[in-house]
Amino acid sequence: MSGSTHAGASHAGGSQSTPAEQAESVDAKNWQDEANCLGVDPDLFFPERGASTREAKEVCRGCVVRLECLEYALSNGEKFGIWGGLSERERRRLRRQRALAARKVTA
Ligand code: SF4
Repeated sequence: MSGSTHAGASHAGGSQSTPAEQAESVDAKNWQDEANCLGVDPDLFFPERGASTREAKEVCRGCVVRLECLEYALSNGEKFGIWGGLSERERRRLRRQRALAARKVTA
């Protein structure tokens, strides 16, 4: 049950790290420190085209910083991978919905 360990990666920049490990700290509170995906196989979060995202989403489901992670991905325009429990396509849809809602509010 050991597998590869990616926990504690200091400044991982490639795709060999989980979303939380890739996220840059933007302020003092490091939501990444509480991420469920620390130490989990990064490939789960960056699956090949057409591969299952179920396992990654399972990990995200129990993550206490899911919203922070999702907002980070949305505001940084993360195009690849599962962030905050949502796939690229789901994040795109959410962004569109928010843009529409914002337009309605200001209209
Ligand atoms: S929501 Fe998912 S991807 Fe984001 S930090 Fe939590 S476990 Fe990692």
